[in-house]
Parts: sequence; C-alpha cells; structure tokens
Amino acid sequence: MSEPCDLCGGARFAPYVPRMYALAGAAYDLVRCWSCSLVQVRPLPDAAAVRSMYGDDYFEKDYDSCLSEASYFDSFPRLMKRYGALLDAIEALSPRGELFEVGCAGGYFLDLARRRGWRVRGLEITAAGTHHARDVLGLDVAQGSFPPPDASAAPADVVYMGHVLEHLRSPAAGIEATAKLVRPGGLLVVEVPTYVDSPYFRALRRLLPALRALGRDGGGLLRVLKFPAPGETMEPFHLYEFRRRTLTRLLERFGYRVLRTESRVPKPDRLAHASAPLERALALGFDALDAAALRLRLPGGNIAAFARRPAVDRPAP
Ligand SMILES: [Zn+2]
Repeated sequence: MSEPCDLCGGARFAPYVPRMYALAGAAYDLVRCWSCSLVQVRPLPDAAAVRSMYGDDYFEKDYDSCLSEASYFDSFPRLMKRYGALLDAIEALSPRGELFEVGCAGGYFLDLARRRGWRVRGLEITAAGTHHARDVLGLDVAQGSFPPPDASAAPADVVYMGHVLEHLRSPAAGIEATAKLVRPGGLLVVEVPTYVDSPYFRALRRLLPALRALGRDGGGLLRVLKFPAPGETMEPFHLYEFRRRTLTRLLERFGYRVLRTESRVPKPDRLAHASAPLERALALGFDALDAAALRLRLPGGNIAAFARRPAVDRPAP
C-alpha cells in the first residue's frame, strides 16, 4: 500500500525516475501524482530513516541541493549575495520586525537579517548548524525537527523556510504548522528546489547515455546535477519535487495568498570563478537561464513564494 499524495490525497502515481535514490540498502522511486502532478518519493522513508540522514556530516553532503561540492560553511560569499537579495524582496513586502527562520542551518541568513535591523529567531535540525548559529554567531536558535512538537513561541511578522519543505515527510503538515509561527497578516516565504521536476533535468536525463558514451561527465558536474556515476547512489534528502503550480496550490490550501513567486537558476559554485573555456561557456549559460527564469518566469532551479497569511483565518478546505 502506497501512501496517498501529500498535496491532493490522490492514490494514483505515474513513474518519474525509477530507483532515483538509495538508503540503507533500500531503493526509492520518484513518482508523479496523476491528479495534481506533484513529484514525490515512494515508498516514503519512515521517520527514523529520514532522521538518520541528518547527522553531523549533512552539511558536507547535501546542504544546498547538491549545487556545491564544498560545505555550507565554505560557500559564504555566494550565500551572502543570495540572502541579501532575499531580504530586499522581503523588505519590499513587510516592515522590519520579527523574523523566524525554519531550518536556519549555520545561521548566516539570520545574522544578516539581524544586522539589517530585524529581531531574529530560528529552528535547526542538525547539531552542527545549531552549534554554529548559537555559539559562533550568538543567535537565538533552538535545535529540533519541524513541525516542532511544541510551537508555543510568539508568532513572527515574517517566517522564512528555505529548502526545508522538500525534506519533510509531509509538506502539507509543515505548511499547516506555520499557522502557529506566522502572525495573522504576516508573511511566509518558502523557497524550494524545482530542478528535478524541470525541463532541464528531463533533457539531461535523455542526453545522459550519449554523454556517458562520449566519456563526458563534465568533470563531476553531472553528479552535482543529480546524475551520479554508475555504481554511486544518492540518499533521498528531497522527498518532494515542487514546481510553481504545486507550491502555490499547497500554500493556498492552507489559506495563504501568494503575492509573488520568483524562480532562479543558481550557478554551481565550481563555475563561479571558472577559467577554462568550456566552464566559462557553461557559466554564461547558467546566467542566461537565470535571467530567463527571473524575467520571463520560465522554470528555474529554485522557486521562492512570498505568501500573506490572512488577517482573519478561514477554515482550510
Ligand atoms: Zn496529488
């Protein structure tokens, strides 16, 4: 018996990528819901299996949707640029007040927000991230999973949840739980990767046998793009693969009004300072795709949704 779709409750799925992931000797498929088209992992790993993936080496393995081969703590300049732009977008929609981050990793985003005048708090699942946020940056961060068993903290003006939803066994339960964290009339900002359910991933997947036959794996770039070498496996960190439509539908299901969405194509770290001609061409290609995603609303590698919690709650359908 397979679990029903987390977004719409549907029970029929079409194959998307068979045996995409492996964990503790078990294989996991990616499937697509027939009714709402949300891509999800089946069978769904149980809660203990999910917890087992977030040990102290997590930030060396998958902190940023595999975009970086370096660790989270080494990607500081690129992250700060991204976080600055995100705060600009948030501040265009909300006056500075209290900001809560779900899944704050080492706390760099909260630290930047604090320096810009926000009062900040956070929640983080990993011990390494919590330690860095608390002891190195001096932030008010609790260690725990999300949704938290006890969400008694005062609601914030803005809640940011970046690259968290796709890790949850139930994103719907996660968005439902944000009602306790966002004040009525406040802002929820959710960012998720969209690359695996995108034309880019599907095109590369079709080209893969030819690329492999030519002996071209882009010097490890294919692994970063979620095509591990034969014999290598990936763990199912991302249990769901969203796109603009499914993310919007999930937020609206719990009463949020989506004010805007923004899709981006982040450039892999290793192309940021590329000097070889092929890598420079690839870097320019990523920049062009990013501009198209942002200005023309084409699919990207990530999407951020800025959603308003209504001032008065209506019952969820
Ligand atoms: Zn569905």
